[in-house]
Amino acid sequence: MTTPSQYKALFAPLKIGPVTAPNRFFASPHSTGHGWTEPKGAIALRAMKAEGGWGTVAVGLTEISPSSDYANHPMERIWDEKDIPRHNLQVNEIKKHGSLSAIELGHGGMQSRNLTTGLPIIGPSNLSILRPEIPSQSKAMDLTDIKLFRNEHKAAVERSLKAGYDIIYVYAAHGLSILSHFLSINTNKRFDQYGGTFANRIRLLKEVLEDTLEMVNGNAAVAIRFGVAEPDNPLGMSHDGEGRDVVEALAELPDLWDINLSGWPKDSQTSRFANEGFQLEYTNFVKSITSKPVVGVGRFTTPDLMVSLIKNGNLDLIGGARPSIADPFLPNKIKNNLVENIRECIGCNVCVSMDAYGVPVKCTQNPTISEEWRKGWHPETPPISRKKETHLIIGSGPAGLECALTLANAGHDVTVAESRDKPGGRVTQEARLPGLSAWNRVKDYRVYQLSQKNNSRIFLSSQMSLNDIKEFGSDTVTLATGATWRADTVGSTNFEPIATEKYTILTPDDIMLENFPNSTTDQFIVYDDDHNYMASVIAEKLLKNGHDVTYVTPLPTVSTWTQYTLEQAAIIKRLKSLGIKFALNYKINQNFEFCSTIDNKKLKLQSKKLVFVGGRIPNGQLFGDGKLINTMQNVFLTGDCLVPGTIQAAVLSGHQIARKILNRDAKVLHSKREQTIQ
Ligand code: ADP
Ligand code: SF4
Repeated sequence: MTTPSQYKALFAPLKIGPVTAPNRFFASPHSTGHGWTEPKGAIALRAMKAEGGWGTVAVGLTEISPSSDYANHPMERIWDEKDIPRHNLQVNEIKKHGSLSAIELGHGGMQSRNLTTGLPIIGPSNLSILRPEIPSQSKAMDLTDIKLFRNEHKAAVERSLKAGYDIIYVYAAHGLSILSHFLSINTNKRFDQYGGTFANRIRLLKEVLEDTLEMVNGNAAVAIRFGVAEPDNPLGMSHDGEGRDVVEALAELPDLWDINLSGWPKDSQTSRFANEGFQLEYTNFVKSITSKPVVGVGRFTTPDLMVSLIKNGNLDLIGGARPSIADPFLPNKIKNNLVENIRECIGCNVCVSMDAYGVPVKCTQNPTISEEWRKGWHPETPPISRKKETHLIIGSGPAGLECALTLANAGHDVTVAESRDKPGGRVTQEARLPGLSAWNRVKDYRVYQLSQKNNSRIFLSSQMSLNDIKEFGSDTVTLATGATWRADTVGSTNFEPIATEKYTILTPDDIMLENFPNSTTDQFIVYDDDHNYMASVIAEKLLKNGHDVTYVTPLPTVSTWTQYTLEQAAIIKRLKSLGIKFALNYKINQNFEFCSTIDNKKLKLQSKKLVFVGGRIPNGQLFGDGKLINTMQNVFLTGDCLVPGTIQAAVLSGHQIARKILNRDAKVLHSKREQTIQ
């Protein structure tokens, strides 16, 4: 297939110092959650991006020495010679597909944990470290410590060269690097040649960059990753202040500028709070200062925008971390004129939440991520099918659609029956809430793919009864009927229903389906015993419709779980700007009063309407009494009707069940595990 002429600019090679990138797609450094202890998983994941056409594939933050110990957060390591074979394998697997390999060397400084090494945490000054969960201070580095650190960095560069990397990073971004800590007036309180003036604070970064160039000596390219602005940090870098000064001071030194926003919540904003290309207003200036290639990120998934960024001189390379997780084959799809097949990142940050847990990354759009090695799953090549069968799937939510698509891709005959007049289940419903429209991509991608096949079909407005299913007579039946929000106060901190006549109880389903009087302004209580995003978007919708809203939760923080998606601060800020009232630590008691969990005091509220955001009940009409399962063979459950959870969990569940259906005779479906002692 020939590349459409309008996208040719994306496939022009680019010289980066002594190496040449085959195209403009740059899989940006990110940790995969496998760390150094599960290298096969990480290597297979990154190799998949190379196979999918990312011309450069970067390895995430790699600790240079034991004084930068992130454990128990699974990071990459290149501490000593014993780490080299693992990296060498990684390089080879990436290069096999013609891509360049890059390594982001880093020292965590005041973000290190040093829990396993027990070494002092080091930084520019003696201050509390930047991790509230660890009660420790950093040792102010003296000149001997600084020399030692520079030598450690040089040694890590040498090992990276031995491993065969094409691009070696100097890392000064996200506030996660000792070099950022020296740069920042917030953390650098020194009075010597490394502190005080800008020229002094940038000294270590410049020295490390020069050390790296000297070590590399033209045998690899040297990149700098730098956060040009920290919009949430009043003392931080800004694109028209010291961020710009850094780029001006080092402009022609590195072979590649990899620029972004810091810290991580600003760099990885969700689609609820930022649109595609959200970093450009901060990063655009860099190209005007340096003649060296520049790569930047911004959740880019639209080929036309990518081309315009290259042609207009905003960027030379299109960086993608989340877009490359959601679709490792994004570049090849553009190259082969299959743009409509791109599985676009929805910007939900479930991938980010897995990093916080310290487990291999998972993705709402790409259920095969992290399963490349342990289960042998490929995002584009469907599993080989034994024989062709007919499958009926009830429900077209994320689980039903993913199950249907996986079966259809395997060549089977697939029918989806959906009772509503639109496909997509909860995704279609939730995408109507403020800021969540990008979530439609979960449905749009799968519905489009199914529509392109002559072995699959979706019947809408088709409520299926037990008899309908039996009469249909398919080889298998998969129930993907979803779940319904509870109205009975059962949620994550209460397992007994509590009745009330004091309030009109509504659920998120009522608000999403507009089943409530919305014409005149009213007072609402949104009671959050779910703790993910839902209560906050429901509150946002009500506030935007002019209602008065009080958010009440039994927990001490707003939307507690959204810390994991880096959204919590943005949620609080937005709701505050819309005039919400927060009442934290209040729990509904047996008399349906809001009772403080701290001192038992009662909260008096005027509103008579309460939106309860708590648990969900599986829609089990078709399987609850066992009739279907007892009378038919090959009946499966998937998604929220099996276990209510996230959209990501529903997609994964749909994918898993399809693979099980395709390989029903397989005895165990355990994954391979990486064993340190074989
Ligand atoms: P999941 O997240 O597990 O995919 P959803 O709630 O998003 O679940 O989707 C379930 C879908 O199943 C909904 O669109 C719902 O209308 C549909 N559904 C539920 N029961 C039936 C039924 N008996 N016949 C057809 N469709 C059904
Ligand atoms: Fe994008 Fe969500 Fe997948 Fe992360 S989990 S890559 S944000 S779709």
